[in-house]
Amino acid sequence: MARGVTPRQPAKTGRQEGVKAKARAGWVRVEKARAGTAATARPGGSKKPAPARTKRYNPTAPERVGEILKRLDQQYPDVTCALHHKTAWELVVATILSAQSTDVNVNRVTPELFRKYPTVQDFAALKPEELEPDVRSTGFFRNKSKSVVGAAKKIVADFGGKVPDNMDDLLTLPGVARKTANVVLGTWFKKNVGVVVDTHVHRISRRLELTKNNDPKKIEQDLMKIIPQDKWTLFSHQIIWHGRKLCIARSPKCAQCPLEHICHAEDKTWTTVETHKGARA
Ligand code: SF4
Repeated sequence: MARGVTPRQPAKTGRQEGVKAKARAGWVRVEKARAGTAATARPGGSKKPAPARTKRYNPTAPERVGEILKRLDQQYPDVTCALHHKTAWELVVATILSAQSTDVNVNRVTPELFRKYPTVQDFAALKPEELEPDVRSTGFFRNKSKSVVGAAKKIVADFGGKVPDNMDDLLTLPGVARKTANVVLGTWFKKNVGVVVDTHVHRISRRLELTKNNDPKKIEQDLMKIIPQDKWTLFSHQIIWHGRKLCIARSPKCAQCPLEHICHAEDKTWTTVETHKGARA
């Protein structure tokens, strides 16, 4: 090692010191918004020759996506849906109730709910108003009651009391959109028909630059193009767990994250790599 050169250590504060340190040393790092365009310039204008450009950064390159999947498998090997359920119908109900709520909250409500109304026929016999007090604590309880009772009536009337196992039929149920259908198909029927895009998958896919879209349908399409189909359900569950444990919305725990070295999110709380403008929820 050359004399006077001190190996770089992560800052104890958890903050990056690179920019200030380089400025003190008489160098200014000029970050341009896009990856691969960083240039190093001396104060006063004379530029250090830029290193020959190699490959343009591609956040959805198969090697990078493969690395993300590998790290998720290591961190979250056997994760599944956190909503408690014993039947496909219970999973439909729990997923409808989980909109704008937390799984913990829903899991608090459903044991008593399913004890009181054990079958889909019991729910189909209700008026939505009768269900409202039981699901009130999950929020948006009037709409949710309407959806659950409506879905139960449709399943009893058109599907012989059985939850359908395909996307087209599931989407005919009141209150069931692609997210709920994907949860039921992937978790209960073990069918990889799509990727569940909830708030966690939305946020983290954007932070990891796997999509530039904001519309859940478009995000799902982007993810389906780059994630192998046999991983769609597992990937959804892994990202949802990652969003709960580490990649939290307001304050992600980047220093503990197994994806840190390949994540360029603009709103990281700690980083060893350059961040990319726009890579955020
Ligand atoms: S490094 Fe931070 S922002 Fe990136 S995925 Fe991990 S926790 Fe999320």
